[in-house]
Amino acid sequence: MSILRIHVLGSPVLRQVTKEVAPVTDEHRQLIDDMFETMYAAHGIGLAAPQIGRTERIAVVDVDEQAYAIVNPVIVENDADPVKGEEGCLSIPDVYGDVARPERVKIRALDRDGNPFEIDAEGLLARCLQHEIDHLDGRMFIDHLSVLRRKAALAKLDDAALTRTWKLSKGGAQMYSAPRNYVLRVWCLNHLVHHRAQVCVYLRLLNVPVPAVYFNSADEPAWIFD
Ligand SMILES: [Zn+2]
Repeated sequence: MSILRIHVLGSPVLRQVTKEVAPVTDEHRQLIDDMFETMYAAHGIGLAAPQIGRTERIAVVDVDEQAYAIVNPVIVENDADPVKGEEGCLSIPDVYGDVARPERVKIRALDRDGNPFEIDAEGLLARCLQHEIDHLDGRMFIDHLSVLRRKAALAKLDDAALTRTWKLSKGGAQMYSAPRNYVLRVWCLNHLVHHRAQVCVYLRLLNVPVPAVYFNSADEPAWIFD
């Protein structure tokens, strides 16, 4: 087994909709084992394939010693009344926010051996399963927050953690100007966020003096990640 690199906010794979797995092969079983090891090493309770750069519809969870590998999971029933609960994500270090989700869900999935099974979950397990299934559809928990709450949450991003894990492609980053200084608009995850720390991380990675501003002549700002 091996510990895989966890992709963080900004990596495009986190926004991809995953592909169904059929059939479940030894390669998938290896991936599942590696995902469990990676999740435990990172002290997480759930991990979805996009978080380690893969596009298979696979996630793993372990809540209160209930560990499941779920392949091609679908939510077949959910409680009508959402309840709020705090969530975090290994792909968004040190950021937390309250997300409203159904308290109970029933999930149908394939297990590690490719056999269909169901999970009747409530509480934290139900929340975790929904969070991971969101990942498989290219969604992250911050998408459930209001714009203001999302901005407030992202302002807490630990840019040191991001510096460690983000990697620029050869194309580098293109930046978008703002009226003043280096408060830039960052096009990130299909959401326009204003976040100075993210910009500073990129400028540092590019060895550009922080106050510098790059003008992008294209109409659309584009950040190119790993
Ligand atoms: Zn997550």
